[in-house]
Amino acid sequence: MKSYVFPGNIEDSILQIGGKPFPYMRTAQFSELVKDSERMLLHLINCPEGRVIFYTASGTGAMDAVVANYVSQCEKAFILVGGSFGHRWKNLCDYYHCPNEIFEVPFARDIDYVQLEERVRTSRPDVFLCQHHETSTGQLYDMEKISAICKKYEVSLVVDAISSFLSDTLDMSGWGIDICITSSQKGLNIAPGLSFLFLSPRVLQTVFSHKSYYFDFEENLKNLERGQTPYSPATTLFLQLHARLQSDMKIGVDNIIASVRAKALYFRELCKQNNWEVPAEVPSNCITGFFVRRNGDILFKELLKQEIFIMPGGTPNYFRVSHLGVQTNEDLDDLARRIKEIENR
Ligand SMILES: *Cc1c(COP(=O)(O)O)cnc(C)c1O
Repeated sequence: MKSYVFPGNIEDSILQIGGKPFPYMRTAQFSELVKDSERMLLHLINCPEGRVIFYTASGTGAMDAVVANYVSQCEKAFILVGGSFGHRWKNLCDYYHCPNEIFEVPFARDIDYVQLEERVRTSRPDVFLCQHHETSTGQLYDMEKISAICKKYEVSLVVDAISSFLSDTLDMSGWGIDICITSSQKGLNIAPGLSFLFLSPRVLQTVFSHKSYYFDFEENLKNLERGQTPYSPATTLFLQLHARLQSDMKIGVDNIIASVRAKALYFRELCKQNNWEVPAEVPSNCITGFFVRRNGDILFKELLKQEIFIMPGGTPNYFRVSHLGVQTNEDLDDLARRIKEIENR
């Protein structure tokens, strides 16, 4: 089996933790593991003075938590919508009856930042919601430009960095981000089931709303003070997370990103050789989205028969290959060969 979806191929040393007996979590030892994980996560995202809330939920759980606890007490949200994940912010805001306005960006295009600034200036929102990387299209947005606009008009910045954390440069403090979210099955390259909500020192001064019992910020923060979650954590995933973070700290964030980038660039060269168009104007390192020329309707199923997973893209002939996890150039050569063979049938 080869996986080019999330979280990608995982080292045996990490996978094996999932098959071992796991400890009781209401202990000082487990608390230490949670606190140590918080410290490492804050280091990797560059927000050393912030806090992390750990949820036993996929990434959307953390997005839900942000809207329920924070956006719901704002006056007006401004939402960047460049694909299905941007739409998820919009759906969540509507669900919690938060007044909002959207700024649409066409499929796989970059933002017109001049137009964006103009809209923010006239719209006067107090919170800005976006993705750093819109995973449905592979487009990476320029957070420095978004951050500058938010600073200029004093808009609180909330970033879904679920698929950019540890694959593209992300500087939470430097960019003045109030809340960032990510989850276990993307750059951290462990199974889905955990999500992480990063709170800046500034946003920690806020009085949060109480619209979600399970996701309540205040209750979670209070328990995490002593390294505990209010409800049963996915214990095994926490053990895998800790092992992953220790390894990531050793490798260093720049080296991790450089390695994801090298895989992405290598695969894009193969796309070029095969005339598979990569539509993203500024492609992320995390995935390559590309169009095959024919047989897109059978590609996914035929690869599945060979125990190879890639992601269908929702548009005819459009597919996405993730560059997270263990992946060699030989793997990518082999993948491209197999795609080519199916395309030529
Ligand atoms: C994966 C992802 C999510 C979360 O999806 P879940 O299936 O809930 O984990 C949210 N936003 C982005 C940008 C993502 O890539």
